[in-house]
Amino acid sequence: MRRSIQRLSLLGRFSLLSLLLMCVLGGVVGMVLHGRIEHRALADAERLAVAAAATGSQAALDQSDLVGQIGPARMLELDKKIAQPLASTGVIRSKIYKLDGSVAYSDDHGEIGTTTNADEVRGLIDQGIPKREMGRGTGDDGTGPRTLSVYVPIRVGAATSPNALFEVYLPYAPVAADIRSDTQILYLLLALGLAMLWGALFRIVSRASGKLHRQAREDHLTGLPNRAALHAAGRDALGSSSRPGRTGALLLIDLDRFKEVNDTLGHDQGDHLLREVAQRLRDVLRPSDVLARLGGDEFAILVRDLPERSATADIAGRIEHALRRPFDLAGVAVELGASIGIALYPDHGDDLTTLLRRADVAMYEAKRARVGVCTYDRATDPYSPERLALVAELRTAIDNDELVLHFQPKIEIETGAVAGVEALVRWQHPERGLLAPIEFVPLAERTGLIGAVTRWVLQAALSQQREWMAAGLEMPVAINLSGADVLDTTLAEVIGNALVENAVPGRLLECEISEDTVLADPRRAIESLGRLRAMGVKLSLDDFGQGQSSLSYLKRLPLDEIKIDRSFVMGMGSDDSDAAIVRTTIDLGRNLGLKVVAEGVETDEAYADLAALHCDVAQGFGLSRPLPAADLRRWLDARAASVAA
Ligand code: C2E
Ligand code: CA
Ligand code: CA
Repeated sequence: MRRSIQRLSLLGRFSLLSLLLMCVLGGVVGMVLHGRIEHRALADAERLAVAAAATGSQAALDQSDLVGQIGPARMLELDKKIAQPLASTGVIRSKIYKLDGSVAYSDDHGEIGTTTNADEVRGLIDQGIPKREMGRGTGDDGTGPRTLSVYVPIRVGAATSPNALFEVYLPYAPVAADIRSDTQILYLLLALGLAMLWGALFRIVSRASGKLHRQAREDHLTGLPNRAALHAAGRDALGSSSRPGRTGALLLIDLDRFKEVNDTLGHDQGDHLLREVAQRLRDVLRPSDVLARLGGDEFAILVRDLPERSATADIAGRIEHALRRPFDLAGVAVELGASIGIALYPDHGDDLTTLLRRADVAMYEAKRARVGVCTYDRATDPYSPERLALVAELRTAIDNDELVLHFQPKIEIETGAVAGVEALVRWQHPERGLLAPIEFVPLAERTGLIGAVTRWVLQAALSQQREWMAAGLEMPVAINLSGADVLDTTLAEVIGNALVENAVPGRLLECEISEDTVLADPRRAIESLGRLRAMGVKLSLDDFGQGQSSLSYLKRLPLDEIKIDRSFVMGMGSDDSDAAIVRTTIDLGRNLGLKVVAEGVETDEAYADLAALHCDVAQGFGLSRPLPAADLRRWLDARAASVAA
């Protein structure tokens, strides 16, 4: 509504301004034309007077009339020859002046012989051309109908130049009526023309503004409403007064492997895919739902009227189902996943901005937990007040060295030797005790603090390693990198400097990255990881099997190792498909020349199975839990003693 007012006001401003301009233009043109019409009408009247007066009087008078006083007989004669014919043409009054300014003849006989302004009369005669003047009213006090006086220099007798001045008064009313009727027609035509011009302009501008308005609200690729349009729809739909007691939902959808498709099949196919996704989404929604593309591979759905809160599960299910069907991209069948975050109205917010933010939190959670769909939950929201307080605490915790590292050994299955350790961070919180990474690492990832955590871990791991090296222990240590770390262009430099400062060779450091981390921006990740590899740092693909890895990326990544996700290892004893995944991953690693690590080895059976499958390395509670450095030292010593025994 407000938008349409805004748009209208733009158009309104244009119409008002142009209307004003048209009026000014009309006024000016009207005035100019009116002046010309008036001038022409007066000139016509003058011509009439000149023609009527000059020729008539010139013929009637002779030289003797300008000498002395005209006698009564001659006066009657002149009345007949001059005044009477003129009166019939509408002339009110006629007079003839001599050169000395005295009246030689007048139809008002009483004036004859009187003298008015001699110089003026002389001047008018000498000029030799007629002159016109608006006269006063005909009444004695200047009121009454106005007149037009015309002075015409005339030649009387044998004179070669004008020697008398003829003056006639014409009534102004007929001239004024002429002017009025002419200007009325003109004004009408002018107004009509300008109105038509304005109408045409208005139509053009209104159409253009409508088009601009639509374009500003439309996603060009899919034709769906864009973010701005979604906000507008949100304002209309969630406006407080319009929805007492009603519920709604905002669903945020992020495609899981879009970037990969775009990179491997090209942007054209990427665009095609987005259009296809838009179509499928449209097909499963009701007409009252607003589907928008927010940019990239992110779509949003505003469900205005939710029969009940649980209905979102049904909608999300339909969306998942629609997107699960493979997409045909230039003959290649591409399977795509989606993560859906849901925020409810009014439970999670009563304006679109809040709902969007919360749906985004839920979507991130859906992605992180790999559950596909997730509804907003305040407890996991890094932006909820409780969480924000924790973030603030985490900031100081890093500076106060409240973080601690625990180390979990990895065992080479064939030899039983310790292949290295994985450094896992914990937070020794002053009030809450020892916090597991799940309680603060995702939070740090969402709030940009993860870089600081990673730097702390890097520094702590390398200084620990320096200690081990000083004690004659060469122990490769692995740290975990988050997505933001991998995409951080300074990562390689930071790690390089830390290695130099601690005098640790690159080959003793390993970085574990998860598949999804790489898939967020494969090109940049590959570049960043390549630089680490160049320093001798080992690279390991964490949680393998959980994510969306494609073999093409696996081949292009500069890897040394893959770690089978612990869920498969823990399930391999009881679940055939888990066992199959473990088996094929080991084969895959071997074929690609990569070392394979099995995480989550909790039992002797699992260890034996992995040994039978020729898995390279095992890690898990069954061998050792993650331990503080001092405990690890004791564990290593005890293990060395038992192997020796
Ligand atoms: P991860 O990288 O997969 O680390 C292995 C996790 O599995 C550790 O949990 C470890 O304690 C647990 N684990 C090891 N063996 C077993 C087993 O036999 N059974 C079971 N059930 N669990 C086992 P933790 O330490 O709680 O870490 C959880 C996750 O937090 C890590 O998963 C990693 O993704 C993240 N994380 C930990 N430390 C860091 C860090 O310094 N930086 C970053 N970015 N992430 C970290
Ligand atoms: Ca790890
Ligand atoms: Ca792992």
